[in-house]
Amino acid sequence: MSLSRKDFLKLMGGAAAAMTVPTAFLDGCKQALQQVSARTPVIWLQGQSCSGCSVSLLNAVDPDIASVITQTISLNYHQTIMGGTGHKAIDVLREAVENARDDFVLVVEGSIPTLAPEYCTVGMVHGHHVPVKQWVEELAERAKAIVAVGTCAAFGGIPAAKVRADNSNPTGAKGVSEILPGKTVLNVPGCPPHPAWMVGSLVHFLVYGLPELDEYNRPKMFFGQTVHENCERLNDYRRGRFARHWGEDGCLYLLGCLGMDSGCDIPRRKWNGGANSCTGSGSGCIGCTEPTFPDTGNRGIYQHLNASLEEINKIENEDIRLAVLNLRNGGIING
Ligand code: SF4
Ligand code: SF4
Repeated sequence: MSLSRKDFLKLMGGAAAAMTVPTAFLDGCKQALQQVSARTPVIWLQGQSCSGCSVSLLNAVDPDIASVITQTISLNYHQTIMGGTGHKAIDVLREAVENARDDFVLVVEGSIPTLAPEYCTVGMVHGHHVPVKQWVEELAERAKAIVAVGTCAAFGGIPAAKVRADNSNPTGAKGVSEILPGKTVLNVPGCPPHPAWMVGSLVHFLVYGLPELDEYNRPKMFFGQTVHENCERLNDYRRGRFARHWGEDGCLYLLGCLGMDSGCDIPRRKWNGGANSCTGSGSGCIGCTEPTFPDTGNRGIYQHLNASLEEINKIENEDIRLAVLNLRNGGIING
């Protein structure tokens, strides 16, 4: 039985069962994919990446999540998991470019260096190393869809960080959309992205077309709400109960949690087959799905909140304002 787009969206983002019972999510994807008659070729390129997004996709806790997509698409090229090597592997990319193929989805993982072509090359053609930027530009020309997985590919991410003392981004790292002006790039950020975000976004595209996107071209079904809105510690925040040190109970806002500014459904979806979430485990949200990651205005990640008195005075809830002032006076907050 096939699945309507409305029911698919419910399963991806809204239905509690899909969050707590991983098989509901998988069954939903499988049902939706019954409407696709042919396997779509996918070319998965890796630029400046740690391969963490691929590792997340191949989630050992729930290998079915990867099989849903790898059995439905034809993963023609993937640098780290394909069997082919050398010219045999690069010929897949060459053939797509030279024959002007227009039937594949281009997935890019990792940022694109722009300061020097030799910073990140993928294979050789006619005796010359080919910059990943060139592959992306040439393959994107005719791809059915361009998907940037992970925050590095979506927005530059870690390789584009400016938090070094010299304020540099040494390779001129950029997100895919920045090097492809005029093209629509479907961004599935995260450091790493949850496997459900990658699989769900691809399934939506294959079956129903481009999903509804937010201002950063992220699918609303996964990134449409903030971490804060669904956080396990929201009641603590509302009641002014704040953790002052790592490991304590309470809202993690004063320890630098970025959940209010980060779009992501992890407090409901959770990681590793439902084991826990970033905020639930006590680490706080580091804003890894946002274009500002990891600099977050020069603050970086895992820093205590640098609230000035002026900022504190703007907090409308009196209990929270007093709690923040107390903590600041107690020397917990810097500045
Ligand atoms: S821990 Fe973070 S996301 Fe959760 S309620 Fe506090 S500020 Fe919001
Ligand atoms: S909760 Fe925050 S740190 Fe965790 S995945 Fe979502 S955006 Fe990233």
